[in-house]
Amino acid sequence: MIDTHENAAPAIDPLEGESLLRHVSALAYNIGPRPAGHDTEARARTYIRKALNEIGITEIKAQPFETPDSWAYALGTPFALSLTGMLLGRLGKLGRFAGAILGAAGAYLTWRAVSGLRQPLDRVGTQRTSANLIVRIPPTGRYRNTMVLLAHTDTNRHRESFSSSRKASLPTTATALIGLQAAGAVAQVTGGNWLSNVITAGQIAGLGAIVADEKGNFVDGANDNASAVACLLGIGAALHAQPLQHTEVWLVFTGAEEVGLKGVHALLDEYGEQQMRRAGFLNFEMVGRGNLAYVTHHSGFSHLSDYAPDSESVALVERTAHANRRFGVFGTKMMMLDQVAALRRRGYRGISLVGLDVDGWPANWHSATDAIGNIQPEALERAARFGLAILQTLDTESH
Ligand SMILES: [Zn+2]
Repeated sequence: MIDTHENAAPAIDPLEGESLLRHVSALAYNIGPRPAGHDTEARARTYIRKALNEIGITEIKAQPFETPDSWAYALGTPFALSLTGMLLGRLGKLGRFAGAILGAAGAYLTWRAVSGLRQPLDRVGTQRTSANLIVRIPPTGRYRNTMVLLAHTDTNRHRESFSSSRKASLPTTATALIGLQAAGAVAQVTGGNWLSNVITAGQIAGLGAIVADEKGNFVDGANDNASAVACLLGIGAALHAQPLQHTEVWLVFTGAEEVGLKGVHALLDEYGEQQMRRAGFLNFEMVGRGNLAYVTHHSGFSHLSDYAPDSESVALVERTAHANRRFGVFGTKMMMLDQVAALRRRGYRGISLVGLDVDGWPANWHSATDAIGNIQPEALERAARFGLAILQTLDTESH
């Protein structure tokens, strides 16, 4: 018998924590902050390509799209409309009519923004080019399922609104902003001048808070979301070595998530209707530290924006968690707006895996402390192995 061991490739397990940590380090430490549409986001894609090539995956499709680089436009433009409306209201009857419409439009656009829907006015800011990277790993046998794994490559800013004392009240704050804009529209119709003044002052304060929140630097995004990219690379390597029998797996590294889920919207625009109507989507978010959970209910960023994963996905993840109890994965409700919001609002399936730190929140969320030193290799490994287990559960059940 011939011992093939010596000729085999070095036996590095791609799902091992230290292997995954190397990807996080390359993205978050070597490249650093990756704002949507910036050069460093493109460098992250170059790294992902290289890593996929090393695994042996060479068919990688880039799907470019235009994007602004910050979330400010999404909340700032509705306020600009609403405030313009409040000023027009001072110019007589016609002005009040126009003001009421602008106020209502502002409230509606803010609601869209905090609910994960596409932003009709996202072209007002400077446009840059971002892209999704897409890999498809076909099954070896008869095709039965499609599963799409999502991980975003871009990073957000350090935000005071996400400080530990303030983040829990984000949905209430956003609901108040929507209310303020709607109240502006109503005040134009009912015509109380003092009320209009109070609302205008409130809106100026609200706009000021949004502008102030844009002052923070972009973060390294080791947890958010290099951790997720690392998991997809690890799972990709495992699947390339041993593909599933009946399940086609898509690895989608999305761009511009932090500025309004632009990457996943672009993905659905191009592929959704034709190829993803029945697909499962598994989104990885901040899985680099703490316990691993799947989200059973998302608040969105207002009290009018909640959403939930589809029941089929929840059941699949539950069965996988039950059969792999060593991972300690559990279901939880969360204050969160993620790529699953875009999926669910557009009628697709989808569920998120999220890491939760000891305080019950994702670690270092939109904080300057989201750096390589705060990543736990064992958390990365758990997320990647559990993600792969979900795929295997689905595949085995469809034999
Ligand atoms: Zn994220």
